[in-house]
Amino acid sequence: MQDEFTERLRDLSLASRILAQHGVVDGFGHISCRDPRAPDDHFLLSRNLAPALVVPEDIVVWRIIDAQPVNPDSPRGFLERSIHSEIYRQHKDVHAVVHFHSPDVIPFGVAPIPFKAIFHMASFLGSSNPPIFDIAQDFGPSTDMLIRNTTHGASLASLFLPPEQSQLTRPLVLMRGHGATLTAPSLKLAVFRAIYTQTNARILTSLSALTGGQSNIKFLSQEECQQATESISGQVGRAWDVWARELEDNGHSM
Ligand SMILES: [Zn+2]
Repeated sequence: MQDEFTERLRDLSLASRILAQHGVVDGFGHISCRDPRAPDDHFLLSRNLAPALVVPEDIVVWRIIDAQPVNPDSPRGFLERSIHSEIYRQHKDVHAVVHFHSPDVIPFGVAPIPFKAIFHMASFLGSSNPPIFDIAQDFGPSTDMLIRNTTHGASLASLFLPPEQSQLTRPLVLMRGHGATLTAPSLKLAVFRAIYTQTNARILTSLSALTGGQSNIKFLSQEECQQATESISGQVGRAWDVWARELEDNGHSM
């Protein structure tokens, strides 16, 4: 178990740096996973640090119940860590969470623009639009937009309830004027989904420029989404290996 924990610390810090390398996160944004030693009670998330700088020693163990550190002497954490704790508390099938502010994704949370799978690599997004979390709806017009506490986090996490035809928690919720949060059943899949969510946004934006915003876009069907997701899920390790290698080539230590 200790080996698994050590490996998870390494993978989580690597995941953080891969997302930074791909511009999904910048100085802000974060990725977490459940603690393999106590997956129902604890999760792993770095201290308050830019994602590109995270190494295994920066990872802190947090309680799912209240987003507080297991060790009270731990360094300060992210203000928005309740995003992670509340999703783990409400959704048992989620094992990793990414919160990010990618400028490619922001437009889809502030206007009624479809955000569905436009190509097979983003098939996990499905063929219906993701929910949009609007903090003003639950907490009024004068917040600073941030998920500051477990009440905010619980409200966001509730939007990940699975759609009727699925037993699986939704992969993505857009956040108006803020960014997005996504979930996955594993850490590597969370990185994969975050990168291809951003790519899906970029393709839709370029498509809109090419077509002059015409609405007859052919998205993947639900059936295509299901089949492509099944086919690609076994390939995630290949993508992870190349992203990790890119970091190495750019001089990051593993
Ligand atoms: Zn945020």
